Amino acid sequence: MTATVGVPKETFPGERRVALTPKSCEALAKARLAVVVESGAGLEAGFPDTEYEKRGVKIASRAEVFARAEIIVQARTVGANPVEGLSDISLLRSGQILIGFGDPLTAAAENAAVAATGATFFATELVPRITRAQAMDALSSMASIAGYEAVLLAAAALPKIFPMMMTAAGTITPAKVLILGAGVAGLQAIATARRLGAVVSAYDLRSAVKEQIESLGAKFVVLDLDTGGGDGGGGYAKAMDEAFYRRQRELLTEVIREQDVVITTAAVPGRKAPILVTAQMAEAMAPGSVIVDIAAERGGNCELTRAGETVVHNGITIIGPANLPSRAPFHASQMYATNLVNFLKLITKDGVPAINMDDEIVRESLVTKDGQIVHPKLRPAAPEGSSK
Ligand code: NAD
Repeated sequence: MTATVGVPKETFPGERRVALTPKSCEALAKARLAVVVESGAGLEAGFPDTEYEKRGVKIASRAEVFARAEIIVQARTVGANPVEGLSDISLLRSGQILIGFGDPLTAAAENAAVAATGATFFATELVPRITRAQAMDALSSMASIAGYEAVLLAAAALPKIFPMMMTAAGTITPAKVLILGAGVAGLQAIATARRLGAVVSAYDLRSAVKEQIESLGAKFVVLDLDTGGGDGGGGYAKAMDEAFYRRQRELLTEVIREQDVVITTAAVPGRKAPILVTAQMAEAMAPGSVIVDIAAERGGNCELTRAGETVVHNGITIIGPANLPSRAPFHASQMYATNLVNFLKLITKDGVPAINMDDEIVRESLVTKDGQIVHPKLRPAAPEGSSK
């Protein structure tokens, strides 16, 4: 028997991605997995039903997708889609596999609701950052798109252009862009801002990224701070205390004052994003300057950020974009689908589910199984009575 992978249409407001592209369905067919897609699921990403059908994929209603598939793949499962996603809970069944983003470190109630269905839930955010898992690392793929899109938002909002121009009408000096946090999104933001001709500098808590910043043609900002390397393991930053963040803000004030654009990306897994830019620091920037806060959905790196909104404060524009990857749904879906195909190959064998709990990638990304929240980091956070 061959298992079927189901792709429901995304229901989060404004979400334009689709979990599998038509081409990725071909790769799954080679792994002996059939696919059923909800009608219209790929349309906003540029993949009409006919493109799936050409590759032998069945198109069906949402209820049929959930009923027919042994494995459901989504960009946003209920934890990352807590209002509209709730109606999917009643469509899930015991033993069915669910894969997708789900904010598992914070969405305790949703973890519990999925566990109660008996479904086996893998959260893409929890795929460990080991070399073997790189091709499944959806967090990194989506962060790359986010970094690129953040720069485009900044460029469009800034009353200046980014590049230097020498024209008969005079010389235009290049825009100054500062990137705070040079992880996956930050590095992509540096590369994008450089391509547009800005003068770019960047800062990260992890001193290990200095070389990467410089290799992209940006200046590494050195602050007189003891970070102890800043690495909390797995490529993530370690959480610092409030005294550290206070000192960091003091030192950043002068750097930020001179910028036309600040793009903030700083995050610490499972925690609220650290405040790197206070209202006072933003107010010191020249009118017309722009801050794009990629961490907006995780609480924001700027005190003035409002997630999903653009705030103009004293002439400074603070953009708190929601769901940046969905702004480029074609390529975001293409990358995400590739990540999912690689993950599906890991958890199936000869076209049927084969979950090997001895595998580190499986163990670390598995949230629920057999009616329980099984992830060791998540069990204590679940509300009482969440497990059967
Ligand atoms: P992230 O989204 O968790 O954080 C973004 C950046 O913010 C990080 O670089 C972090 O150091 C930085 N940051 C946190 N607090 C800060 C502060 N107070 N001031 C300044 N910067 C701060 O991280 P991410 O982008 O998902 O990943 C970070 C790194 O992990 C990558 O650059 C990469 O080196 C590594 N990584 C490794 C693998 C792998 O080996 N398979 C996969 C992906 C990423």
